[in-house]
Amino acid sequence: MSTQEAAAASEFSNSNLETMFTAEQIADRVKVLGEEITRDYQGKELVLVGVLKGSCVFMSDLMRHIDLPMDIDFMSVASYKDGTVSSGDIEILKDLTKPIRGKDVIIVEDIIDTGLTLHRLVDILGTRGANSIRIATLLDKPEPRVKKEVTVDYCGFEIPNRFVVGYGLDVAGRYRNLPFVAVVKDPDQL
Ligand code: 5GP
Repeated sequence: MSTQEAAAASEFSNSNLETMFTAEQIADRVKVLGEEITRDYQGKELVLVGVLKGSCVFMSDLMRHIDLPMDIDFMSVASYKDGTVSSGDIEILKDLTKPIRGKDVIIVEDIIDTGLTLHRLVDILGTRGANSIRIATLLDKPEPRVKKEVTVDYCGFEIPNRFVVGYGLDVAGRYRNLPFVAVVKDPDQL
């Protein structure tokens, strides 16, 4: 393969992507969040609940900065949309594998947009007897949150209302493997 062909095949140096946060910036911030959680959850029964699929990269990096005994679990939910807007109704596609009664849960999300999905998820998990439920998200778009207020306890970065990919986030199943977060410059060229 020529150098030119290799560049054309590279996803990480794809010219349709504009980097918003580099891998180094993300790593530094995730380390700080892990240290905060380590301080806040001393003596608690911590369970990180990752919301699949988008949170998988953030979750695996975050937990390696939490220096405490802890457990992990995952959920997968589908959000129903009216056109492009989240309606707030969700269906559980994959539920937790263990009860969370008496546990101190942190829901780990990739990004919060309208907040509707997370609001509903907190409601659902709130009926299961957890001792506490908090939210950690890598990215937060506070601007469009006109429908539901959610309290974000641990946030990597607040971002403007732009569609981002990478570090777990996809568009049509692509770009989750990028080690950085980027904006797709031309969505017609996916
Ligand atoms: P909401 O907070 O509006 O209920 O939905 C949040 C979900 O919408 C996220 O978990 C994610 O799947 C998707 N989402 C929202 N904004 C973006 C974005 O900028 N990029 C990507 N890839 N997904 C997004």
